[in-house]
Amino acid sequence: MGSLWTGGRIYTMEHEKDVVEAVFVEGGMIVAAGSKIDLEKRYKERISKLIDLKGHTMFPGFVDSHMHLVGHGEKLMKLDFSEMTSSQEISTSIQEYVKDIPKGEWIIGEGWNENQLPDRKIFHRIELDELSPHNPLMLKRICRHAVVVNTKALELAGITDNTPNPEGGIIVRDANGHATGYLLDQAQELVKTVIPKVTEDYIQNALRLSIGDCLSKGLVGGHTEDLNYYGGFERTYRGFQKVIKKDGIKFRTNLLVHHEAVDDMHRLGYSFGDGDNLVELGAMKIFADGSLGGRTALLSQPYNDSPDTSGVAIHTVNELKMLVKKARNYKMPIAVHAIGDLAFEYVLDAIEEYPPLPKQRDRIIHAQILRKELVDRAKQLPIILDIQPRFVVSDFPWVIERIGESNMEYCYAWKTLLQEGFHCAGGSDAPIEPVEPLLGIHAAVTRKKPGEEDIYMPEQRISVYEAVQLYTTGSAYTIGKEDCMGKIAPGYKADFTVLNQDLFHIDDDEILSTNVMMTVVDDTIMYSNQKEDQT
Ligand SMILES: [Zn+2]
Repeated sequence: MGSLWTGGRIYTMEHEKDVVEAVFVEGGMIVAAGSKIDLEKRYKERISKLIDLKGHTMFPGFVDSHMHLVGHGEKLMKLDFSEMTSSQEISTSIQEYVKDIPKGEWIIGEGWNENQLPDRKIFHRIELDELSPHNPLMLKRICRHAVVVNTKALELAGITDNTPNPEGGIIVRDANGHATGYLLDQAQELVKTVIPKVTEDYIQNALRLSIGDCLSKGLVGGHTEDLNYYGGFERTYRGFQKVIKKDGIKFRTNLLVHHEAVDDMHRLGYSFGDGDNLVELGAMKIFADGSLGGRTALLSQPYNDSPDTSGVAIHTVNELKMLVKKARNYKMPIAVHAIGDLAFEYVLDAIEEYPPLPKQRDRIIHAQILRKELVDRAKQLPIILDIQPRFVVSDFPWVIERIGESNMEYCYAWKTLLQEGFHCAGGSDAPIEPVEPLLGIHAAVTRKKPGEEDIYMPEQRISVYEAVQLYTTGSAYTIGKEDCMGKIAPGYKADFTVLNQDLFHIDDDEILSTNVMMTVVDDTIMYSNQKEDQT
């Protein structure tokens, strides 16, 4: 027996503005979509439940193509600086937080960004010592490619003035050669490795909180990368199984597997594509470079505003090729973080030498800084570009200074990439950006900061339809699920996002005031907005 969904406008995403009146669902799958009268007649005997959309608008379920689900949950549990706009506010929040933590226990803070502080302050370890005299402290920069730590943390990590910079990282030092507590890229690992492992309960609590939040924001799923950061593959994977499968908090996850976790995954008998449509093992994740904020994104030219650096390669091009070869040996596609154009070029070099298996698709995550010839090369390969529209809001206008105005033509160039025929998917990179897909859609469509007037590279705005595609058909295509996810059509999964406004018929800025009314995963209403419904 099945259910009939009707009573609102239903966009199928089969093609632009394609609308149906009703959808009949059975066993978690869409059986038919069409006119209400027709479906009522055809499935009369099989309709056991009627779901009234109450005039709201239904879309195929939104899926975030790049996120860190556990990290997002941690952000909800933790000291979070990402909305703070002064260094004083950060100091005060640390002082308050420390009061409740037993002496000696690690304190981790997240999301600071000196670019949004009027004094552009990067805390020095001595200042942090005053705020947290008895606890080791690590504060992660918004980009996660840099941390600042206090003296206790440096001591526990065994970092002294004489410690050499590790490969791919920098221990920032003052004019006298003393470590300041600011650690870039791989240097972070020196500290992270001495932080006690998190418990499995912690992972599961973070996941529960995270998925609950995602569902309330209209997401039915996400491609998420977490398996290497919480004590290894096995316990983290078990966390997903427990929360999503055993506890029944349904959410469609595709788990990217960090290259350092793939051996463990195989040793335990798992391989790419294992699992089911709720928890599935995905591509091998590799980092090719860092971030623009910390000037560690790898550029082919020096930074315009800091000509002594052109960024940091996490791996040499040969190391990168070896990692891609390793993925191919395991029959895995790759998903590579590449922000700078030289990092992107390295990835193309590696994919050209070690292409994926037939029908497999690689993805390049971020793809922010490109050049014409790289676009032309990439077009020849089975590559998906996994873009984060919200980065426009966070990175402009300062990124223009970093890159140089005359080099911006192929940067954050979402419209150009779509016109060039790339398959693109849309993600938040939560916890780095807010997880709301509606914020991503707004950023892609307007290229404005909410509430402000400046439009950054207006020619690169995309249509609402194209933006919704990023989170529906785009996310589905990225994991080879374009035949069963991302549309409302027979044979597709019954995953829906229901909104109180019709995105295709409102002003662009009204996207920001749109409410999620219902989030449906596998024909189960996982979130319903009771508050709005009563008004
Ligand atoms: Zn990420």
